[in-house]
Formats: sequence, structure tokens, C-alpha cells
Amino acid sequence: MSRQFFPTKRTYLGVSEPLSTALPTAADKASTEALQRTVDKWMVVTKEEDAKRDQILNRLEALFREFVREICVRKKVDEGLANEAGGRIEPFGSYLLGVDDRDSDIDVVCVGPKFVTREDFFTGFVDVLNREPEVSVVVAVVDAFVPVVNLVFSGIEVDLVYVRVLHAKVDESLDLFDGSLLEHLDERCIRSLNGLRVSEEILSLVPDVSTFQLVLKYVKIWAKRRAVYSNIVGFLGGVAWAIAVARVCQLYPNAAASVVATKFFSTLFNWDWSQPLILKHIKEHDPLYNSYEVRRHLMPILTPSYPCMCATHNVTSSTFQTTLTELKRALLITEMISLGSATWSDVLDPSDYFEKYKHYIQIIVSSNSAALQFKWSGLVESRIRPLVLKLEMLSESVELVQPFSKSIDRAVACKTMEEAAAACTGSVPEMDYINPITTIYTSTFYIALQFGSSSEKSLNLSLPIQEFVDRVKGWDGFDMNSMGLVIHNLNSSEIPQNLLGESKSKGVKSTAISKQDVTNESTSNMNGEEHEDKRQCLDSPPAPAHPSGVLFIGGLDVTITEFRLKKIFEKFGQITKFEYHWHKVGREQVTPKVQPSSSFPMKIQALP
Ligand code: ATP
Ligand code: MG
Repeated sequence: MSRQFFPTKRTYLGVSEPLSTALPTAADKASTEALQRTVDKWMVVTKEEDAKRDQILNRLEALFREFVREICVRKKVDEGLANEAGGRIEPFGSYLLGVDDRDSDIDVVCVGPKFVTREDFFTGFVDVLNREPEVSVVVAVVDAFVPVVNLVFSGIEVDLVYVRVLHAKVDESLDLFDGSLLEHLDERCIRSLNGLRVSEEILSLVPDVSTFQLVLKYVKIWAKRRAVYSNIVGFLGGVAWAIAVARVCQLYPNAAASVVATKFFSTLFNWDWSQPLILKHIKEHDPLYNSYEVRRHLMPILTPSYPCMCATHNVTSSTFQTTLTELKRALLITEMISLGSATWSDVLDPSDYFEKYKHYIQIIVSSNSAALQFKWSGLVESRIRPLVLKLEMLSESVELVQPFSKSIDRAVACKTMEEAAAACTGSVPEMDYINPITTIYTSTFYIALQFGSSSEKSLNLSLPIQEFVDRVKGWDGFDMNSMGLVIHNLNSSEIPQNLLGESKSKGVKSTAISKQDVTNESTSNMNGEEHEDKRQCLDSPPAPAHPSGVLFIGGLDVTITEFRLKKIFEKFGQITKFEYHWHKVGREQVTPKVQPSSSFPMKIQALP
């Protein structure tokens, strides 16, 4: 692909001159090809999946435009105006950046005309979505900093935000990047438009979009594999990693992706975090920027568009330290790549999180329906970070409190109510049942603790854990009959076997580090040689989607239809076939084997 290179003396993108304008060597190009092959192996997105995402967007657009028209009619807006009111659906985030994978949600901003208020959207459009057959879960979070509707559409998570502009007509001619559009807009609308503006601006601030995309894809795979990707629990999330990669692209505007990837790890690791990482100068009068200045952030990475936000607000001292540790590990391995003694795949070896620590807190969140589990585990996940902060502050002897970046999710088929109760505490029956009476959904979160030498036995974790339990149980939607929460203290020997052993492999172990013990620069003299084919990975990259499992659902009421089942379970993957195992004889004779019980056998307990 042809690209334009930046002359040495010229205007540049970013807030400082490039560190190097060197052009790629043959070795850099060969290494970039190897990097591309590694990314292609790990980020498998099929044409069908791409098409499905596009279909979802088209359907959402049709629903939204119809909704806008109905609201106009209901409010007795002139018929001509109602027909012209329009409405737009604009994807942003990783979809717009061109780096989304199978795990990514689709972030969408809905732009409506002045006739459709925020209240109309968060009630009326939520009702429309609830009626849509392909939508299995809809949760409106109206009181968030950026109010959002989370939904699962054909098994894919979608986050919808709403912007009401003060125009009568919203069509393609409306310039959503025109600053004057923001005048007199509701603050929540301004923040909701920000995501789209940020994504577009990131793309406009990088010297070469395809280099940026390749490096960002690689960094996303790495951060997920090394368990340092999650805005919600306190690591960097999608937008923070995107801005960080974009900044390194600015610093090496002509470099091949292999060089940018290597420089990425050294630049981030060596960054002076008393200075924010930014892609362009921030306007002084930005009220949110000023509020950023007076607050303390450990790893400030700021979004480029007005109103500027700190995308790393959630980083805690433990997640900061862990991220640095991982950056250092990656930096050392990428230096070995340049010497020909490691490969791009080695950097992606899975995290040794479950082997590294002596103490873990295990939080098992359970419920008896997939839709309920989406809400309940989401709520608990949002409270993990405050718990981490409390634990960090518990005593000086607490050296590190590291949350695992995501929950381990399961659907457990159970044959008895005793098994169901046991599943809520983390036990999994040994057999797969043909006719289970119920399925329990669990999401298990882990928090690792590292103490100073002598104090681990004397430290009492009860108080912060009890506070955590009280907070999650205080949620409006909490129902003790259908939702469970069990907390265990585990030592390293009690970690479930299936979580162990993935990473007992070659490469550089991620030991705790101090910033001083690394040299400042990593070499960019990469020879591009890879040995991937000769090396054996202990785990394999994701395979394309194909039927891979059977889920047994029991205790169904006769009124449950296939359509409802599809709605609920598509979140977990594509459903290829339904099979019914009726009790004894044919359909006419049917009586459900077990009537759904009115109360769900789960205990709420906290075991600090
Ligand atoms: P992923 O592939 O994980 O979905 P993403 O880049 O889409 O990555 P999301 O976490 O889905 O990231 O966020 C979508 C958009 O929401 C971002 O592009 C950004 O504009 C906005 N956003 C999310 N988190 C933050 C944050 N912490 N600060 C500011 N903006 C954020
Ligand atoms: Mg996203």
C-alpha cells in the first residue's frame, strides 16, 4: 500500500516534534509482515461477523428513525416536518477505529431532532428495543456521567447513547463535528457526542491510519491476554490504549508498524506520568480539563476532543503498577524480537495471574437466567474497583491489590436443587446432563492480594468486604430469590485447576518491577525474523465460530417458546439448533418434568 512519508522538517501531528522520522528498512518491513500475521492469527473476524454487525446497525437505524417519526406524530408536529425529522445512528469506538474484534461491543450514538427529548429516548426507545425479537437484554443507565442503554442485539453487546440537537431535521447533511452544534446543548448530550468526536479525531491525528490500526490491534490483543485491559476494574480501556498508540505513531511518523509496536512499550513504560499523554494541545478554557488539573491521576491519558476527559480516571496504584510491570515485560520481549530470539507471539503468552500470588478473593455472582446475569454481574463488576481502592488503603502492608480484568463466566446445567445451590458457590457437576432441571449462570471475579512480609495473617479483610456486599445488595434490582453472591478467601493452592498452567512457558516472566531497572530506549533495529512456526504455543488463537457446545435447559414452563429461548441465550453465541427432550413420550403428553420453583435456592453469604 502506498503511503506518504513526513519530511524531516515540516509541520507535525501532536504536541512535540517527532522523535524520529526515519523511513522503514527492509528488516522493519519484514518484521511488520510477521506482526500482521500474528494479529491475523489472534484477531479472527469473519465476513459473516462483520456483516452481522452491519445488519445490527441498519436495523437500529430503521427502528430509531421510525421511533423519531412516531414521537413527532404523538407530539402533533406538522406531518411534513415529522416525515423529515430523520434521525441518525453513528457507530464510534473500536468499530469506527477499525480495530474491533469478536469481544468488542458496538458503540453507537443516536442523534435525534429537537422534538425527541432525552426522556423520550430513555423510556420510549427502550420500549421499542424491548419489543425487538433480536434484542435479548436492555438496560438503561440513566444516571451515569454519560447515560447509556446497554443491550444485547443478536448476541452482540451494543451501547447506545443519545444526543438531541436543536434542529428540526437530522439527516446526512448535519455536520456533527461543527463546534457551534454544541452551543446550548444539554451537558449530557455534549458528553454523549464526545465518543464519536474522539474516535474521528484520533484517526485524524495519526500520520498513517493503517499503521495505527495494526499496532492498536496488536496492543489490544496483548493487553487482553495479559489481563490489563478493562476500564471498569481500573486498567486502561479501549480508548486509552488507542490514544496511547496514536501518540507513539505521532512520535515515529514514518516508522513501520513493527517499530511503532516496539517503541510503544518503551515509550509508555518510560513516560513521565506527572505529564498527561495528549494528542493535541488542550484548550485552556475547557472546564473539564481544568477539573482534570486539580485532580490527581496516576497515569493521565486525555481524550482530544472538547470536553476533554481523562480516559484513565479509574487507574489505581495497583493497576498502575501492574500495567507498568506488563509494559516492561513486553518491552524486554520486543527487544528480543529485534535480536531474532523471540517472536511477536511470545509477547502474547497468557498472563500468569493465577500462579503469581498467594492470596485471592473470589467473588461468585450467580442467577438463574442469562438476562438477569447480564445485569447482576455488570452491577457487581462496577463495584470491584471501589473494593480494590478500599483494600489498597487497608494497611501499609498491602503492597498490591490486583483485580483480574474480566469475569470467568459459566452456564452450569444442574440435575438437582442441591447441585444448583452448589453451583452458586463455584462447584461444577462432573456430568453434562441430558435433562437438567435448571441452569445456573455464574460470573466469577478475582482480586489478588500481595502483602508485606509479616502482616498477612493479622490483616482483617472483613470490613471492606462487608461494605462491598452491602453496596451490591443495596442495588434496586437486587432479588435474593434469583441472585446469589458468594465470596471466598482462597490461597494459591485453592485456585480452580482450569485457571492454572496456561502460561508455564518460555519468555520473560512478569515479576514486579521498579521503573529504574529498565534502560530507557529499546532498539528499533529489528531484523524482522520470526520463528513462530518452530515454536509451539501452549494455547491457541481463537478459531472461527462454529457449533462448539450444547447447553441444556431444564424446568421449562410449557408457555416458553423457542423465540424466547433464542432471545435469552443468543448472548452466549450463535444458536445452530434446538432439540427438545420431552418427558417420556411425545409432545402431546408433555408436562414439564419439574415445575419452575418460585424461590431460587441460593444463599447470599460473604465469607471474609
Ligand atoms: P472495545 O473494543 O473494548 O469496545 P472501544 O475503543 O470501543 O474498545 P469502549 O470502552 O467500548 O472502547 O468505549 C467506547 C467509547 O466510549 C470510546 O471510544 C470513548 O469515546 C468513550 N469512552 C469509554 N471509556 C471512556 C473513558 N474512560 N473516558 C473517556 N471516554 C471513554
Ligand atoms: Mg467499544
